[in-house]
Amino acid sequence: MPVSHSATVTYSPAYTIVPTYECFNRCTYCNFRREPGQSPWMTLWEAEKILLPLQSQKVCEILILSGEVHPRSPLRQQWFERIYDLCELALSLGFLPHTNVGILSFTEMERLKNVNVSLGLMLEQLTPALLHTVHRHAPSKLPETRLQQLIWAGELQIPFTTGLLLGIGETQDDWWETLNAISELHQRYDHIQEVILQPHSPGNQQSFDWGAFDPHQLPGVITKAREILPPDVTIQIPPNLVTDPQWLLACIAAGARDLGGIGPKDEVNPDYPHVQEQALKTILQSAGWELVPRLPIYPQFDHWLTGDLQVAVEQWRG
Ligand code: SF4
Repeated sequence: MPVSHSATVTYSPAYTIVPTYECFNRCTYCNFRREPGQSPWMTLWEAEKILLPLQSQKVCEILILSGEVHPRSPLRQQWFERIYDLCELALSLGFLPHTNVGILSFTEMERLKNVNVSLGLMLEQLTPALLHTVHRHAPSKLPETRLQQLIWAGELQIPFTTGLLLGIGETQDDWWETLNAISELHQRYDHIQEVILQPHSPGNQQSFDWGAFDPHQLPGVITKAREILPPDVTIQIPPNLVTDPQWLLACIAAGARDLGGIGPKDEVNPDYPHVQEQALKTILQSAGWELVPRLPIYPQFDHWLTGDLQVAVEQWRG
């Protein structure tokens, strides 16, 4: 039976800017990274050329997504400043930045709060078992280091997006453990706006020889995640990784209420093109759901923003 017209699913009209694809980690499922030194950094001039035409295209969120420069690299400060400047540029052109660039120091997070409406970092999975497999050469994927980022975001009152990567060699119990950890931190700090459940979807570049996460399992995971997570934490699924419309609708029926940033390219999963807004609207309408755009910050967090950012968000809320 169709649900009532008030049932809404959100998405963020977004564009992804990649300061650099270089990354010192080597996660074996990665389809994004380049070797350090092999990916020229985006200049502000190049970014401006990309951003200016987007002003007339209903894009609100600029997702700043980067590979990581090692914290002790002599280039780290320069890398961070480039990210900061790109955020500032996006803001000055009327967009709302959301940055997800891996592990940051407390001070770096504190500074990025001034030029971002929210930050993000996938927790992926907390089990240390993955440090012997897919994360063997990925020092940033230490579970305690990632949990620390969520704690600092809470202490700094930064609205935060995190999530799980499903199907990289973990067990079902590992899912519930990771979700429980997110839930506990949210109950302490009230700062998690959404949790992404991202099914592992093999791409052309990765060395991890493992099949895709079975999408038929996803509604069951969402149901259980909905039980574990506090009700004010939204569950997000990436629609380009759940390509069968019936299973997408099953995920929504199970409790997912957000489809994330929709833009021209999924930089993390470049082999899986985004389904565009109109096609998603049609799929959702067939089951009585309305697809509505949202900002990269949920309204309950607006009061955490500093002055200029609050004004920028107010303008978008109209
Ligand atoms: S998944 Fe992220 S951290 Fe891992 S290698 Fe790729 S870009 Fe680096």
